[in-house]
Order: sequence, then C-alpha cells, then structure tokens
Amino acid sequence: MTQLAPLDFRSDTVTRPDEAMRLAMSAAEVADDVLDHDPTMKLLEERVADLLGVEAALWVPSGSMGNLIALTVHLRPGDRFLAPRGAHVLDNELGTAAWIAGGMPHPLECDAGPGRVSPDAVRAAAGTSGPYYTLRTTLLCLENTHNASGGSVTQPDEHALLVSAARETGLRVHLDGARLWNAAVALGLPPAALTVGVDTVQVCLSKGLGAPVGSVVAGSSSFVAEARRVRKMLGGGVRQGGVLAAAGLIGLDRIDDLAQDHANARTLTQGLVELGWLVDPPETNIVLAGVPDLERTLTGLRHLGVYAGPMAGKVRFVLHRDLRTEDVTEALRRIGSAS
Ligand SMILES: *Cc1c(COP(=O)(O)O)cnc(C)c1O
Repeated sequence: MTQLAPLDFRSDTVTRPDEAMRLAMSAAEVADDVLDHDPTMKLLEERVADLLGVEAALWVPSGSMGNLIALTVHLRPGDRFLAPRGAHVLDNELGTAAWIAGGMPHPLECDAGPGRVSPDAVRAAAGTSGPYYTLRTTLLCLENTHNASGGSVTQPDEHALLVSAARETGLRVHLDGARLWNAAVALGLPPAALTVGVDTVQVCLSKGLGAPVGSVVAGSSSFVAEARRVRKMLGGGVRQGGVLAAAGLIGLDRIDDLAQDHANARTLTQGLVELGWLVDPPETNIVLAGVPDLERTLTGLRHLGVYAGPMAGKVRFVLHRDLRTEDVTEALRRIGSAS
C-alpha cells in the first residue's frame, strides 16, 4: 500500500512560511530591539495598533506570553479574574495566570451560547465588595474567537454589553484575540470593531496568518511601556527581531485570505455530515465533531493520513492556509472510503 500524504488538520499553527514570507524575512531591516527599537518590529507594532484601534502594541514571541504579560500588568497577587470556561488562559497556559501573574482564576459558565458569557454572569461574579478578607475581582478576560468551543464568534454588540458590565463593576478587560482576525473576517468588520472598550488585547501572527513566530499584545502607551518590562523579565526581549516581525507584516497582508479557510471549514462540515458525522456548523476555521470514541476515531483518521486533534471531548479539525480545498476533498474521500 502506498503511503498517503499527510493532511494536517491539527492546528492552524502548522502553517509554514512560504517563499514570499521567507524573502521578506531575509530582506528585513533590523537593529537591536532591546537597546533601541528594531525598525521592522516598530513598523509591525504600529500597524497592529492601528488595525486594533489602540494606542500602542508590542511584539511578543507567543500568544501565551502576550496573555501572561497583560495579566501580570493588570493583576495584583490574589486578585480574582473572570474568564469563560474553557478559555485558553484557564486551561492551556500551564496555570501561569496564577503561577506567575498571581491571579485567582474564576471560570464563568458559557450561558450565552458556545464560548460566550452573558453580561449578567459577569455582574454576578464581579459581585459587590464584602468584608476586608473578600477576594478582589479586578479583571475580565474575553476570548474571540473562542477556541475550545470551536472558534465561536462574539458579535460587537454583545462585546459592548460585556465591556459595560465589566466597567460598571470596576473590572478591567483583557481580550485574548489569538484568532480575532478570524472573527473580524467572519463578520466582515475591521478588527478594531471587536476591541472597543478593552484595556488590552493579544493577537497571534503564527496561526492563520502563517508567520512562523509571534504575537502582539496591545493597549495604551503606558500599558505597552510596562509590558516591555515584563516581556524582558520573562526572557521575551529579542535583539534583531525584525526578521520575525517581517513575517508578521506579510501575515497581516493576508487577513482576508482567512475567508477561504472559513469556506473550507464549511465544505468539510458538509462532507462529514453527508457521511453521517455529527458536526456543528462552524463559525470560522474550526470544526468540532462529536464521536462515540474519541481516541479510536483519532487513531483511525491518522491511519488515513488525516491528522486531527482532541478538543473538549470532540474531534477538532482546524482549517488553515496550508490546506487547500482539494485537500479537504481528499480528506473527505479518505474518510468516506474507510467508513
Ligand atoms: C493559540 C492560542 C493562544 C496562545 O498562543 P501561543 O502562541 O500558542 O502561545 C492563546 N489564546 C488562544 C485562544 C489560542 O488559541
């Protein structure tokens, strides 16, 4: 039997820099970003701040570091922060929100739909002040799109109500926007429409946009000055980072391409449903399928050269720029021929 070429649906982080991106990286103008400010990193940071509608931005090596920096700046040790159940900051960052940022995590049930919490839930959890030994709740962490619930989107009106609820109860707001670009493209809105009222936001360049490394954390100029210190503390200050930022700049030119990933997610869903799978309609580039035996299904798929991963007890397929529509068709053909 001939080996089937692997089709990698595990994550949009598997995207590799293409020729144009590698060329831009090799041609990047650079300087020591710790001593001065690398010109290409500066360019990237200004462009992202502009796209997100905030004052300033800071390149960071990873989304996890971007979130950790924001939480470290926002939280005093022992402060409680709220986040929707399944949030990346709660479940997938090694507990650094507590371990390093010193926060007391409080998951909110997703009572407003997949990955989405209601303003009332925020108000109730933020609560009123009690005796002096009561926990201080000081931060709301939102996530758009919400990864664990299958890339679900929070609409701008809903976002605005959550931000108001946070403000009324004295909470700051951090937005984990690892896939904010996907939410913006799905809604046909500029990314800045989804950051209204937040204090800080983190966006990834290394997922659907295809850069090999990098995220950006953004907010006010005073936040970014503080964030730069925390980044250095965490070992995230880099020298000639322009070679990495150049890849991010190319990625930003490709935001609109995410629409193709979303179309491919719909094609995959339709094909799986025709094969009798139980799949929720995808809102962006993530497809979650409920199966009776997760491990068995993932192993079976792997034998077909279709790599998927587990997420929230389901099979997770992530569409990205290194999977073309033909690859989706081919994956469906393999799954169909085996069932
Ligand atoms: C991927 C991801 C992150 C972290 O990004 P890394 O670069 O992998 O550290 C944070 N939040 C969400 C929602 C993510 O999907």
